[in-house]
Amino acid sequence: MIEFRNVEKRYEDQERNAALSDFNLTIEDGEFVFIIGDSGAGKSTLLKLLMGEERASKGAVVVDGVNVARIRRSKLPYYRRHFGVIYQDFRLLKDYTVYENVAFAQRVIAAHPQSMQRRIPKMLEQVGLTDKAESLPSQLSGGEQQRAALARALVNGPLYLLADEPTGNLDPTSSQEVMRLLEEINRSGTTVIVVTHDAAMVDLMQKRVVTLKEGSVVSDQAQGGYENA
Ligand code: ADP
Repeated sequence: MIEFRNVEKRYEDQERNAALSDFNLTIEDGEFVFIIGDSGAGKSTLLKLLMGEERASKGAVVVDGVNVARIRRSKLPYYRRHFGVIYQDFRLLKDYTVYENVAFAQRVIAAHPQSMQRRIPKMLEQVGLTDKAESLPSQLSGGEQQRAALARALVNGPLYLLADEPTGNLDPTSSQEVMRLLEEINRSGTTVIVVTHDAAMVDLMQKRVVTLKEGSVVSDQAQGGYENA
């Protein structure tokens, strides 16, 4: 479970408005949540606090009962293994094949070679990229690159998947494919948090929608679209 308890986040050089203020949000395990809001509303700050890249100025971000600000710097890499992350710009290693990109994530956690041989093909199959395992990112469409990034984000079995504008560079068809995969991943138990401006996808999915404005939650709909959020 993720809890933001009366969080305020003020960056060092930020004088007037804080990036987040009076910020309260609870996300239960197994949820699928969209986080929406205009540029500057605080969405990236929320993700940074969650990952322990920034610390709350007041209040607490609590993940599975642990106050993220209290995690020692040396332990943060281990804490971050709870999260798989995908980005608008995919961030694949460009000189590595799809297979090697996914394998890289497994090597970072010193996965056993036998487990890698089992898990990586399974992940690639799940995202529909078995035939592209030996391709370089430059040889893939945007949708395929995002699916490769998704395989990499999920191969270590994270509890939470964070998607930061995952469809920002994709056409509508590829966007839908990625969203369907996120839904499938969520059905198998992973909590999915999607930060997006993509109204069409929010409308399509009919999931929980949390709207941020000027650093606070202004709307939290259990199930809804972009407009009525
Ligand atoms: P969003 O992701 O919704 O666009 P952000 O979380 O990036 O919003 O930003 C929220 C507010 O915090 C904005 O006013 C932004 O200018 C400010 N901000 C973000 N990062 C920094 C930083 N490193 N230093 C100072 N101010 C920042």
